[in-house]
Amino acid sequence: MRVSVTDRCNLRCRYCMPEGIRQVPMSEILTLEETVQICRIAAENGIRKIKVTGGEPLVRKGCVPFIGMLKQIPGIEQVTLTTNGVLLQEYAEPLLENGLYAVNISLDTLDRGKYREITGTDALPAVEGAIRDMLRRGVPVKLNAVLEKGTGKADWKALAEMTRETPLLVRFIEMMPLGYGKDRAGASGEEVKDWLETQFGPMEPDKARHGNGPAVYWKPQGFQGSIGFISALHGKFCRSCNRLRLTAQGELKSCLCYEAGVSLKEPLRRDDEAEVERRFREALWNKPEAHCFERPEEMTEKREMGKIGG
Ligand code: SAM
Ligand code: SF4
Repeated sequence: MRVSVTDRCNLRCRYCMPEGIRQVPMSEILTLEETVQICRIAAENGIRKIKVTGGEPLVRKGCVPFIGMLKQIPGIEQVTLTTNGVLLQEYAEPLLENGLYAVNISLDTLDRGKYREITGTDALPAVEGAIRDMLRRGVPVKLNAVLEKGTGKADWKALAEMTRETPLLVRFIEMMPLGYGKDRAGASGEEVKDWLETQFGPMEPDKARHGNGPAVYWKPQGFQGSIGFISALHGKFCRSCNRLRLTAQGELKSCLCYEAGVSLKEPLRRDDEAEVERRFREALWNKPEAHCFERPEEMTEKREMGKIGG
């Protein structure tokens, strides 16, 4: 289950927050204790892995001890973090002491000027430092890059190149028609894989298990790490999707494509845990069969990824 702890952020990435942040009063955001309570109910109903996300999770005060609280919930086996990486090195030590297992870092380019253009901030050196630091500590690291058509052969190559000498997983994610992605063409994972093969030679499938997600991994010969493709549009993986998303405002969503979700905050705040559990199960059973990103006119989700919890 992905758990968003905030919809605020220290960056303004064009893919995720093209219009900046609309402030929501803190009273509408779940407290971290409320979020833990929901995660405990989720664990009692079979959830074993939690990915903490946002907005940027590390800008939420208390995020570090929150990881520890999640880790202590009976049944929760793994807690991981999806972050922009800017504050990661600063919090590395306590995050790991609190039981963080692995990190996903969003990074679309290794070009400092382009990074500034995409995120609105000159933070690339901090992110690169955090990646090196995590690898030095032996923490599993996945980098996530969104595939925008026409932008970045040089970026794709430079990111993929990082997997040559380090055990990194670099994943290319097809751009979904949410937020900025609504009006832009994305590149398909397949075309990017074909192009990377012209640069690195034929890639072998990497059959190792790297988490439970939908990425399909490939390895150029002699590389330590692997290159993954999350082909949400061109390689529809809905049949095997078991994701649930809890937004920072306490809504449980079972598919990125549809706005519909159930409010867990409302019964939680009137102390009705039985109703929280009933709604949790309802969301689980009513998970749509498939997304409809290929037919954007049928999509009901209008929010950007930063509001939903990517
Ligand atoms: N702040 C954290 C981060 O940057 O990793 C967590 C949240 S962020 C919303 C999660 C991811 O969603 C980012 O990698 C972002 O690029 C990605 N994303 C945003 N809009 C997208 C879209 N339309 N299609 C695919 N990925 C998108
Ligand atoms: Fe912030 Fe992550 Fe969205 Fe970038 S992708 S604006 S870092 S929440």
